[in-house]
Order: sequence, then C-alpha cells, then structure tokens
Amino acid sequence: MPDQDYYAVLGVARNASDEDIRRAFRRKAMEYHPDRNKNADAEDKFKEINEAYQVLSDTQKRAQYDRFGKAGVGAGSPGAGSPFDGFDVFGGFGDIFDSFFGDASARGGRQPRRGGDLQQKVTLTFEEAVFGADREVEITRLEHCQHCSGAGNEPGTPVDTCSTCRGSGQVRRSQRSVFGQFTQVVGCTTCRGRGSVITAPCTKCRGAGRERRKRKIEVRIPGGVDSGMQVRLSGDGDVGSDGGGSGNLYVSVEVQEHAFFQREGTDIVYTLPLNLAEAALGVDKVIPTIDGFEEEFKVPQGTQPGTPFTLRGKGVPHLNSNRRGDMRILADVRVPASLNGHQRELLEELARSFNGEGPSPKRSPNGRKRSKKRPGKESQSKEPQSEPSAPESPEKGLFDRIKDAL
Ligand SMILES: [Zn+2]
Ligand SMILES: [Zn+2]
Repeated sequence: MPDQDYYAVLGVARNASDEDIRRAFRRKAMEYHPDRNKNADAEDKFKEINEAYQVLSDTQKRAQYDRFGKAGVGAGSPGAGSPFDGFDVFGGFGDIFDSFFGDASARGGRQPRRGGDLQQKVTLTFEEAVFGADREVEITRLEHCQHCSGAGNEPGTPVDTCSTCRGSGQVRRSQRSVFGQFTQVVGCTTCRGRGSVITAPCTKCRGAGRERRKRKIEVRIPGGVDSGMQVRLSGDGDVGSDGGGSGNLYVSVEVQEHAFFQREGTDIVYTLPLNLAEAALGVDKVIPTIDGFEEEFKVPQGTQPGTPFTLRGKGVPHLNSNRRGDMRILADVRVPASLNGHQRELLEELARSFNGEGPSPKRSPNGRKRSKKRPGKESQSKEPQSEPSAPESPEKGLFDRIKDAL
C-alpha cells in the first residue's frame, strides 16, 4: 500500500488541476479521518492521503514526482516516525483543514476589509411605531482620516515598496507538521499585506488611515415597526480599509407601551370595560382609535366576557404596503366588587327572577318608579317596552335599572 501512486491515492487523473486535487483530498480526508471512520485501516489510509496531497498540492514537488517518482520527493513517508497516534495535535477536525488550506484572508495579501457594522437604539411612542417617525441618532464611527485622506502617511512623505515581500503583499512560508513539510502563501506581516511601507505615518491617525468621528444621522423609521425590529442604513457604519466598503448602521427600535392599546403584530387590541348590565343589554360606546378619532361602537346585547369585535383597517400599517391591520375590541365584562344598597336590591331581585320566583310583590316593577329617580338625560328608547303587563319585560326593565344603578 505505501507504494501506491499518489494520483491513485487521491483518485485523480495525472493531469488533474490544483483545484481537482484539493477537492479530491478534502473529500478523501473527510472520508478517512479517524474521528469519523472507525475502520482499522482508516488511519493508514488517512496518512497516505495526506502524504499524496503534500506532494501533489506543491507545484515543484509535483513536477519532481512526475519525473522521478517518490524518490524525487524524498519519500518514504513524510509521516514516518511522527507521533501519528495522536490526532489531537491538531485539535479538532476543523483545525486540520484550516492548517492545510489556511484562511483565505491570510493567503491573499492585500485584502479589502469591510468596515464594521454599528448599532444604535431608538425609543418610539406607540403611535410613532404605528405611523412612522424621523429620528436623529448620534453615533461615533470610523471615517477616513481627513488629514491624510485615508492613505495613512503624512501628506508629502514617500511610501516605500515593502522589502520583505517586494511589493506583492504575500510571502511563502514553510511549515513542518506531523504530515511533513508544506508551504503556505501567507500575507506579509511587515506591510500587513499592503505591499508598501509608510515611512512617516500620518500625525493625526498614526498611520491607520481612519479616525473616529461623532456624527448625527437622520433616520426615517417606517410606520409598522415593532419592538426588536431594526432599520438598516447601508454604508453608514465604519468606513472600510484597503478599499473595502463601509459597514452598515442598524437602528433598533423599542416601542413604549400605550395607556390603553396593545399591539399584536399588525393588530391593535383595545380592552373595553363593560359592567354586567351593559353586557347583558347592549350599549353604545365611544371608543378611541389610534388615528386619534373616536368611533361609535355598538355593543350588542348578550355580549359575553372576552368576546372579540373587529374594526377592520384600524390597526397598524403593514411594512412596505398600504394595507393596515385591524383593531380588535375585547369585551371586558366586570362584575361589581362592591354594591350600594339600591344595587344590591336590584341584583337580589334579578337573582329571584333567574330562579323563576318572579318580581317581588312589594316592589313595583314598572318604569314609572325609575323615571322619577332618574334624571331625564339618559332616557332610553327601550323603556316604553318595559310595560309592567308585558310578560317578557320585567327582566329587561330590571336590567335597565341595574345598568343605571351601576
Ligand atoms: Zn510586505
Ligand atoms: Zn491620517
């Protein structure tokens, strides 16, 4: 087995491209890595795959191998004699690939780097979240240095070619590992991949090319946002370096609670308190809406606690659309916690009526008695129906009296 052809080990043709070889290695190494493959020969196979890859991934070694075979690349086995039992020398499975492939930014020399994203929070009132608002946020962000225009050198001083990498921004580095020696191309550390060296750094930014500045940014927050959402202002974050684009500014929204509205997605929920007489008899109510107008709302008779009613289109605008959610009215029927003497009498009378006992003989159930007690402004159209003789009326008349009393 150790004498097997490297191309055969990776399962690639002799004219395979570097990319083919890299891909084949990755696939095979995944397949035979001892952490995953518990077959007895997996470890040997893995060793072989690495050996093959070390040679075939290196242009020079590959040429030598093509001409002279394993003798040309000093093989035997680069892994021989190494403490191969301990795969842990590489840490985890991910690390093993990082050490082979490097991370792309380290290899590439001068890499444009995008600026950082920034976060800012704004607090909106309930109404502002519904209808949108303009805000000014103050942020501190990295911008191009004004003194050197982002170049990093003191204006008028020369910028030299890096002598370490001769301007390429990259250097080749040989590394020894348990699999043998291999060569990596990494960013030049002298010039940090730029290929050039500043002789006199900018006195303002000390060569960084960027400086922190305070800025006030106008933010248009659209109607329909809710707590936890954020508005993205593309390019309003930190400026990038080496030609990289700017980051974004994210403005996150926090919405204050409302005194009597709640938000549920694009619906607005309003809890309408009703006493039990109003719920039983029905009542006309005037309710507020988020638009600032008041709506007349007819509570039907026999409304049960928790009954929802819907006012279409009186809710929150959908983001990026001109549709609106609904307003939901929840009937909150409240049982009185304490009663005055009159209310107690009426409810006791009601209780008797519910029990089929009929009105108390001592009490006149007709409307005349009520109208004497009551100021005329609340006259109801239902009253004339509550004639004492009408068979269905006593209960209704009683409820009306309870309604007035509560
Ligand atoms: Zn350099
Ligand atoms: Zn500067």
